[in-house]
Amino acid sequence: MNATDLHARALVWDAHSCVPLHPDFDLRALERHRRVGADFVSINVGMDMNPLEQILSVLASFRAQLERHADLFLLARTSADVLRAKREGRLAVAFDLEGGIPLRGRPEMVRLFRDLGVHQIHLAYNRNNELGGGCYDEDVPLTALGRRMVEEIYRAGLLMDLSHTGHRTSLDIMAMGLGPVVFSHANPRALRDDRRNLTEAQIEACARTGGVVCVTGVGRFLADPEARTPAILDCIDHYVARIGIAHVGISLDYEYPGGGLEDLPADVDRAYWWPPEEGYVAGIAGIRLATPEQLPEITAGLLARGYDEAGIRRILGGNMLDLVRRIRG
Ligand SMILES: [Zn+2]
Repeated sequence: MNATDLHARALVWDAHSCVPLHPDFDLRALERHRRVGADFVSINVGMDMNPLEQILSVLASFRAQLERHADLFLLARTSADVLRAKREGRLAVAFDLEGGIPLRGRPEMVRLFRDLGVHQIHLAYNRNNELGGGCYDEDVPLTALGRRMVEEIYRAGLLMDLSHTGHRTSLDIMAMGLGPVVFSHANPRALRDDRRNLTEAQIEACARTGGVVCVTGVGRFLADPEARTPAILDCIDHYVARIGIAHVGISLDYEYPGGGLEDLPADVDRAYWWPPEEGYVAGIAGIRLATPEQLPEITAGLLARGYDEAGIRRILGGNMLDLVRRIRG
């Protein structure tokens, strides 16, 4: 089996990447994803530190741009949309929220965001909030309000993402037994000790829900800070060995350059969201990220490491497609 052919034929799903959270950002930059064989990408439209006004203007702009460039993109709501995009050579795009503060404590906000194209939400970004714990904070349980939010996320057919979430809160959510969860971008702590990475308990609990863990290409969370492909493959190997090939996916968490667009609020406290005591320097500046061009390298690397075609197809996107099919059709 030739890696290039396999990569072209397989459904390639990037479970999370970022563009500048600014309505002036030109989404045609995402063509870069399509050119390297990606068929789907979930892009972030807001984190816990972004005001709702900013998130809404970003959503309005991105939705309008996807419509305007319908020859290139498709706003995907279902698994059928993603397959259609692949058939037609377009890139399927959906939005995700990184943190539950933009939900303003109102479970009905989940459906509003869903109707605007958000398909995946995690409750907390690094720090604790009224819904539950973030990974760089005191390890607290899921709150009663958080529980209602989780129920609504499942009812609305969104993916329950547990990235950036505190250890105990994530286990509480999985113990609710409402269905599969996703860690859209998180690596095993066994390979790189960071509280943002996952313990074996989290990894195994995710698999028990029928969920998927997606390896992330952020150098800080890999054994190789340069984010080269072998370190990404090592994370995939670890997950496959622990929970089996049906529960593993990929995300790059690539951040498209902003060309000078400022996308963090002027008064944001970087030391709060990215704590220096956890090893962050000047927020997330200087962290190396895997690039979209590494997607074909991942396919070639998996083949070289002896994975068969069916297994590679699952990791590249089949597992995430199947997860979406089970959650919302
Ligand atoms: Zn993230």
